[in-house]
Amino acid sequence: MTTREEKYRRMQLRKDMGNRKVTEDQLKVRVGGPRYLGAHACFKCRKSFKMAYRDDRKNKCPQCKRPLAEMGRAFRAPKINDVKQWKKVEKLRMAGFRFATRTSNKITYPYSLQDVDTFIKTHKG
Ligand SMILES: [Zn+2]
Repeated sequence: MTTREEKYRRMQLRKDMGNRKVTEDQLKVRVGGPRYLGAHACFKCRKSFKMAYRDDRKNKCPQCKRPLAEMGRAFRAPKINDVKQWKKVEKLRMAGFRFATRTSNKITYPYSLQDVDTFIKTHKG
């Protein structure tokens, strides 16, 4: 399990390498501590929100007020009407895959919903 500090350090490294654009607002958020923005998914609304991670992990969906799932930086939100892709992402997330960025041991996530169950069986524990 990687700590948030470690993730933050890696993100800084990536930023230094120049493959991540950082907006002024995101920089402001970081002042005063390792709080940074990350993707949070609502599987009900099928939306992704960039917001600061909370230590208690209780970020709520601004739209439906349900708890949001913290997603890693490799997460790319599907289109809102792509129900199958959202179902796929939800299944993966519930199985413990967080879409974290890893430079080594990189996982290729399944492309379609029908491949998810096999993928989870193969890659879990
Ligand atoms: Zn929602």
